[in-house]
Amino acid sequence: MSFSLALDRLLSLLAAQAIVPQVLTDTDAVQPLVLTGLSTDSRSLTQGQGFVALRGERFDGHQFLAIAQEQGATLALVDGQFQPTPGDLTLGLTLVQVDNTLRAYQAIAHWWRQQFQIPVIGVTGSVGKTTTKELIAAMVATQGPVLKTEANYNNEIGVPKTLLQLRTHHRYAVIEMAMRGPGEIAELAAIAAPTLGVITNVGVAHIERLGSREAIAAAKCELLTEMAKSKPGLAPGLAPESAINLSATNLSATNLGEPIAILNQDNPLLMATAQGCWQGKTITFGLEGGQVQGQLRDLETLAVGDQVFRLPLAGEHNALNFLAALAVADCLGVPRSALTQLQVTLPGGRAKRLNWDQDIVALDETYNAGPESMAAALVLLSQIPGQRHLAVLGTMKELGEKSLGFHRDIGQRVQSLGLDRLLVLADPGEAQALADGAGSVPTEQFTDPAQLVQRLKEVVQPGDRLLFKASRSVALDQVVTQLAQHF
Ligand code: ATP
Ligand code: MG
Repeated sequence: MSFSLALDRLLSLLAAQAIVPQVLTDTDAVQPLVLTGLSTDSRSLTQGQGFVALRGERFDGHQFLAIAQEQGATLALVDGQFQPTPGDLTLGLTLVQVDNTLRAYQAIAHWWRQQFQIPVIGVTGSVGKTTTKELIAAMVATQGPVLKTEANYNNEIGVPKTLLQLRTHHRYAVIEMAMRGPGEIAELAAIAAPTLGVITNVGVAHIERLGSREAIAAAKCELLTEMAKSKPGLAPGLAPESAINLSATNLSATNLGEPIAILNQDNPLLMATAQGCWQGKTITFGLEGGQVQGQLRDLETLAVGDQVFRLPLAGEHNALNFLAALAVADCLGVPRSALTQLQVTLPGGRAKRLNWDQDIVALDETYNAGPESMAAALVLLSQIPGQRHLAVLGTMKELGEKSLGFHRDIGQRVQSLGLDRLLVLADPGEAQALADGAGSVPTEQFTDPAQLVQRLKEVVQPGDRLLFKASRSVALDQVVTQLAQHF
């Protein structure tokens, strides 16, 4: 079943969700059209799709109606503030006005998602969402086709975009859910209606906005609160004639009947918060405890019960992500024996091991950094066998008033792990905090990436182990790119 939505059906499903649509275009000119998809981006829109005009911080989609029409759009959803010019009304687009186009887009995506009686796995948490999503997708892909979140489509626009890609052949959907503040995970979970909800952990990402770890935990657990509300099966009154026939799948009804929470037992704050809002079925995972408990034999070998897995991604934190995914796979009846040699490729800058000349190993972790992920990556660096271990670290952003303290803690970690050298490319206060924390570890501070590259060319020796990690905006990836050409 490809996406197909007739205009009258669009209008009635919006009305059913209390989004009152109004057709602005002259009704005589309105053709009975059928949409082949929806797009919020006029550039990538294809023939027969509907264009959803969103008003963002930088762009206003309403300015691109003519481009959308040229690209083949037949209809545009416009918002309550939009006042069409005579030209807009004669573009040849059917204009449907709703109060809030994002809400309408989400409602349509939810309606579409409800046509599929397949396991939908929602993944949230402070860190490890993308990694865990990729691991889950790789595991369930051993059984059948999977739809998964691509790139960073993990927010209020990305989640509906992903869900709208669901097609009849998909047997699973794995949806990453990110947030910056309270209420956002609830919103995403209401749209995606997951049957399994994974919370990887609770840390301090976005503490600047949320204020406390407790508030962050509560925000992640909105996933569970929302799952508790959900009723299995199709949304009443919205099932189309073409609703997918369950008998075509190899899934038992129980896989869908009861929502399941997959929770990190090693994270006490998460467990305590979850207890307050979730009485449903739960599977816990962890290295210290949990129903799906693993023991690391070495960096890349994990024993779970009597089964031994070669980890596709090294390190304790990735072992935890693997265990979360394994718990999902267990729930869905994926045989563990199919997963002992799993392969997975992550999007760039995460857990990427670069083997340079002269036995130099660099961990490219330049995608992003926060206190938990920085600590996890430093531990991994320290565990890679080798003579010298060098950390090349940059600012961790968005940490609010405790930022310097977090940087000092990371510096201390560099010292307590016995690393040999610290090179810092950070904002002045944060750089000093890292250096203070690192104590006796030889530390150098840089403000210019070119000078850092130059210095690394001088100090790096054969056999060295290096970690590169910083928040995205530090652009430490460019330093890695330049060094990769040299070593
Ligand atoms: P974002 O919020 O940017 O989408 P994310 O939650 O999707 O991030 P990933 O992209 O999976 O997280 O991982 C980002 C980094 O976090 C990794 O490069 C790694 O350093 C670290 N990391 C991954 N999993 C864990 C974990 N379970 N615990 C601590 N750190 C982790
Ligand atoms: Mg992510």
